[in-house]
Amino acid sequence: MALDGVQGQSPWWDRAAQRTEGLRPTSSAPRPGVADYAAGIIARNRAVLARAITLVESRRPEHAAMAAELIALLMPHTGRAIRVGVTGVPGAGKSALIEALGSWLTARGHRVAVLAVDPSSTRSGGSLLGDKTRMTRLSADPNAFIRPSPSGLVLGGAARTTRETIKLCEAAGYDVVLIETVGVGQSEVAVADMTDFLLVLMLAGAGDELQGLKRGLLERADMIAITKADGDNVAACRRAAAQYGFAMHLLREPGEAEPPVVMCSALEGTGLDRLWQVISGRQAERERTGALADRRARQDTVWMWSLVDQQIRARLAAGDRLGQTAAEIERQVRDGTLSPVRGAESIIGALGLPGCP
Ligand code: GDP
Repeated sequence: MALDGVQGQSPWWDRAAQRTEGLRPTSSAPRPGVADYAAGIIARNRAVLARAITLVESRRPEHAAMAAELIALLMPHTGRAIRVGVTGVPGAGKSALIEALGSWLTARGHRVAVLAVDPSSTRSGGSLLGDKTRMTRLSADPNAFIRPSPSGLVLGGAARTTRETIKLCEAAGYDVVLIETVGVGQSEVAVADMTDFLLVLMLAGAGDELQGLKRGLLERADMIAITKADGDNVAACRRAAAQYGFAMHLLREPGEAEPPVVMCSALEGTGLDRLWQVISGRQAERERTGALADRRARQDTVWMWSLVDQQIRARLAAGDRLGQTAAEIERQVRDGTLSPVRGAESIIGALGLPGCP
């Protein structure tokens, strides 16, 4: 793909940067088109990547159309990164570990993108990449790209834009994408559905380690890391690691690989080599067996159907005649004057679809 329309000129993003100091469009600057964004991303320009993500996050219909075209154009350049979800309760050490692991990886020649999926539109106290200053080393690293969670979106919206942002980062040559989320609700499920590997961070020494654990989360985990294994906390971490190891053993079906339990310290930089050894080893193994391609294909189909569901529900919730019909049918089911089965048939009929067999 040609990187710029006019031969011999500097690329559009350099000219735009000179003109606007930071790629903020001015009224006189021509707006970049989809091909311009694609060229800038493939040329690994971080400012263009950041702007393209803003496009993907925009809810304006004309931006959505451009974003869809951009993603389609970049498709051949996507899919090459290891996508790792990192989850854990607030205070588990996610930011610190991402900073330490990210820097460890860039020092070894990787290019690392860090994204976040925030389960709520109103962030309360949590610091899910909201406070970028906490990743000071990584933010200043030319081989790292950090993008906070899209604000003002509910989980479904944040998950959509994060999926597309992953693709943009891959096209921009990032070979490791770390996606941070708080393990307190549905967000880790959303993240598990868009990543190759789910790393669950656990704290030791918080009383009975296995109390209040969400079984669903542990069932999805590819690895558990006991964080802050340094100083006086090491002995407690060892106990926690043993307990989680036993729990993982019980949770797995016979014949299924047990996710390893490792200890690490972001503070001291210990355990990072082991973390990466497991993540990259598992990825290589899944690539070899075809399990990775299967997992991604499954994720894509699940995602497509969830979009169909969402769009049909959104269509039925509109204030037009169809929406009013749906609301009336719902009222009758609530009042007990219509059975749920008949109600569903009526709604499918109102959508203009033939009924179920
Ligand atoms: P997050 O909310 O999960 O992102 O957690 P943070 O990364 O912000 O860490 C929460 C607190 O734990 C902070 O005060 C960190 O300084 C501290 N912390 C994080 N990692 C380590 C570690 O490896 N060792 C120690 N001793 N403290 C840590």
